[in-house]
Amino acid sequence: MTSKSAPPTSRAPLSGPVDAVVVGAGFGGLYALHCLRQAGFSAVAFETGDGVGGTWYWNRYPGARCDVESLQYSYSFSEDLDQEWNWSEKYAPQPEILSYANHVADRFDLRRDIRFSTRVVAATFDEARALWVVETERLDGSGGDRVEARFCIMAVGCLSSANKPPFAGMADFKGPIYHTGEWPKDGVDFTGLRVGVIGTGSSAIQSIPLIAEQAKALTVFQRTPNYSVPAYNAPLDPAYVAEVKANYPALRAKARSRPTGFYFPFNTQPALASTPEERRRQYEEAWARGGLPFLGAYGDLLFNKEANDTIAEFAREKIRGIVKDPKTAELLCPENVFGCKRLCVDTNYFATYNKPHVSLVDVSKTPIERFTAHGLVVGGKTYELDAVVCATGFAAMTGAFDKIRITGRGGLTLAEKWQAGPRTYLGVASAGFPNLFMVTGPGSPSVLASMIQAIEQHVDWMVDMMAHLRDVGARTFEARIEDEDRWVAHVNEVSQVSLRSTCSSWYVGANVPGRPRVFMPYIGGFPVYVQKCNEEMDGGYGGFVLDGATTRNAPPEIRLTRRWHVPLDMDVISPAMLAARQVPVV
Ligand code: FAD
Ligand code: NAP
Repeated sequence: MTSKSAPPTSRAPLSGPVDAVVVGAGFGGLYALHCLRQAGFSAVAFETGDGVGGTWYWNRYPGARCDVESLQYSYSFSEDLDQEWNWSEKYAPQPEILSYANHVADRFDLRRDIRFSTRVVAATFDEARALWVVETERLDGSGGDRVEARFCIMAVGCLSSANKPPFAGMADFKGPIYHTGEWPKDGVDFTGLRVGVIGTGSSAIQSIPLIAEQAKALTVFQRTPNYSVPAYNAPLDPAYVAEVKANYPALRAKARSRPTGFYFPFNTQPALASTPEERRRQYEEAWARGGLPFLGAYGDLLFNKEANDTIAEFAREKIRGIVKDPKTAELLCPENVFGCKRLCVDTNYFATYNKPHVSLVDVSKTPIERFTAHGLVVGGKTYELDAVVCATGFAAMTGAFDKIRITGRGGLTLAEKWQAGPRTYLGVASAGFPNLFMVTGPGSPSVLASMIQAIEQHVDWMVDMMAHLRDVGARTFEARIEDEDRWVAHVNEVSQVSLRSTCSSWYVGANVPGRPRVFMPYIGGFPVYVQKCNEEMDGGYGGFVLDGATTRNAPPEIRLTRRWHVPLDMDVISPAMLAARQVPVV
């Protein structure tokens, strides 16, 4: 398989010391660097890739684009940035989002503190000195860095560690094998080739229609069919952009008060309170708008199975209406809860199966047996292929942490601590690992919210906490184990309220064999979570031990976090829903 590598860059090793090491230079790492600098902290970031952008640096497969509208899938911390950047389409394509990340890096002069083509391999807490010792390896083979830092900020990404199932015989295959999350920078030309795509998640659903346009023959190997809603992507209307820009702060504030961290029309009514005719009309209208907001057609779709059955059947009817071959259509119809796995958003996905050179192979009951020199074997039958695309997703949420030897107090590694599933307090920190922050870590809304919002809220909160530690002269913070245990129990409990916990998705780690089944993101809704973070801060960080503080009872000064103190949007989150903790989340 083409491997995750970046061109070498020679440079002298770093040794620090710095206030903070940031791991990763995606949207999380970039914003962390910016805020640290604003707050007067010295910092260096390490990034495996040779450029910024994270997800948008690595996922260059055909069709890659965001599925939260670009006018909202963007940073909100700078009004000037909001005004000066122009998105071309409703859902910007990967190259444009990557350009945006590069623009941000240049505009805020962040590159000088980033060391590229450098992988962090270990971070060890020196208890006596209360310092993190961070070790790296430089991809040019010229050795590594060993940097000492007071704080370590893990901005390693929730979807950055590619899941590469070890199919038998892969090494025998004569053609190239690609992973969507590690796509070659120069692109791939499939013209005239027989291509196999393994997987039917979001990455596959975006790339299949475009691969089909080039390939001589395309065979899709499907283990679980997915629901997908049309994107209706289009160039942005300048009048609409002008209107948004004229009211951007208000839109950003509305987004912050929404369970998803982005704004869209949401109907809080229960689905079953409508007649079948009303429901159909409602679903048709929501379908015509397209995208993830389709799940906002009713308020209880992720909490009431009977309600969910109605939207699931509507979506299956759409598939049957598009795909001409009834057998293929049935294979493409998911049976699981609608929206249980991450909902996909597509352009011409289902229609692609009407093309005569595109075929679907069901590997749900008969898994892929092995690769041969010239193809894939399923159920004893060989499918001849020239190239294979593994759209097989990621070891989500914890995969990038697993790849770094993170050692906390008493020599305990994070991997050991998280053996039975991740344990964090608020998804930002883990007991036994003082002064280590996680951006959008497990136990925070992360992937269930528009992620740039989630990133900004986390980073603002972390940097405010660091500033408070400096104000009171504390050497370390550390999550209290009892608060962490309570939080982990709460995250689990809330997940049970949602139908999302019922299927084998990457949210529960079930996409990778051997991983513990734990619902990892916090499903209580973004604003509810933000309120909990605010309470923690306003209460003087009661869930943390602040060690070595010279000043006691100093109330934390709210600096960056101020903009997250917004009231809950009661139109969407009624008190009754809060009480039941049935917070709808896309
Ligand atoms: P990443 O962008 O993943 O960046 C993490 C960086 O850390 C990577 O560059 C990685 O190389 C680096 N890193 C990791 N480990 C190490 C190490 N040990 N040493 C050095 N560097 C390391 N979210 C949305 O909200 N809306 C969307 O529309 C959306 N679309 C997506 C589309 C795709 C194809 C994918 C895969 C994800 C999408 N997401 C979306 C989620 C997306 O991951 C986030 O929106 C966001 O880009 C994450 O930023 P991040 O900085 O937290 O992580
Ligand atoms: P994914 O949703 O996890 O899909 C991976 C696919 O590979 C699934 O169909 C899975 O089947 C299949 N698979 C995995 N191992 C397999 C095996 N051994 N044999 C056969 N099939 C196998 O991964 P993804 O598509 O890369 O998306 C991950 C997440 O990234 C998304 O959910 C989304 O959050 C984000 N993303 C967003 C967009 C966007 O539209 N903006 C695009 C891409 C990604 P099972 O379902 O049976 O496990």
